[in-house]
Amino acid sequence: MVVTVQAYHSFTTSSILQKDKGADMRGFAVLGSSSKANAYALQSQDAVLLIDNGFSCRELLRRLDSMGAQPAQVCAVLVTHNHIDHTRGVPLLAKKLGIPVYLPRPMTRVLPWKDLAVKPTDPEEEFMVGPFRVLPFRTYHDTDASVGYSIACEDLRITIITDTGRTDERMAEIAGVSDLLCVETNYCEHLLASGRYPPFLKRRIASSAGHLSNSDALALLQQLDEVTQFIFLCHLSGENNSPETVRELLDHHQVPCRDRTVICRRGEMYLQQLMDVKTRRNTGL
Ligand SMILES: [Zn+2]
Ligand SMILES: [Zn+2]
Repeated sequence: MVVTVQAYHSFTTSSILQKDKGADMRGFAVLGSSSKANAYALQSQDAVLLIDNGFSCRELLRRLDSMGAQPAQVCAVLVTHNHIDHTRGVPLLAKKLGIPVYLPRPMTRVLPWKDLAVKPTDPEEEFMVGPFRVLPFRTYHDTDASVGYSIACEDLRITIITDTGRTDERMAEIAGVSDLLCVETNYCEHLLASGRYPPFLKRRIASSAGHLSNSDALALLQQLDEVTQFIFLCHLSGENNSPETVRELLDHHQVPCRDRTVICRRGEMYLQQLMDVKTRRNTGL
């Protein structure tokens, strides 16, 4: 699979190519996102925090390398929930790198990860991992327990909301104070309804414990800040959605951060430098 870093607005592909020339590599990366494999990374000055890993260990390390991150810098992996597209590569990666795995407490009862450094967490209980202050918050999904993460790092707040059947006031509140927000746009209602999935699966996806539709995500985005926020739309279904469908929806509605919104194509990799997010917030430019 070819790693693509999209040049889009403040995306600076040149800094990626210059990773050995002392460029500022601090950034947030969608290492890959789809119904098959999801992983995100946040790189601070000298530490990297991973969120989920649905990739093989080898592929994840290859993608980390593409963002200029070294395996030795990875301080932990956070897990959002117990679905294979988010956890497939977690055990081997954690073992290989010798890093702790933070996950919702109920997951510890069902996962056979006894030989890993598992750290159970609870929604709304903040904790520190290296330089990152992590706030897990509740999401709504058909699994033992699921959370989103809001991470404070270098005076910025980065939030991931994925695999949730609905949003709530708390999510909107956290999203509203985030500088960078990664939110699921899983399916288009019309494509899902008219698609080939069996009725039980359609009901599951569209339920309040399934996934966020494009309109659900749009409603959340419409509440955001007009000037400063950066958005990644992720976890698009290959069957019931497309980047073009999401783009069309954004084009037909008032979305405050449209020119800083990136629609993540399945499996591709995207990087946003934190420096650019800071500059935008501080100067509006
Ligand atoms: Zn998923
Ligand atoms: Zn899931």
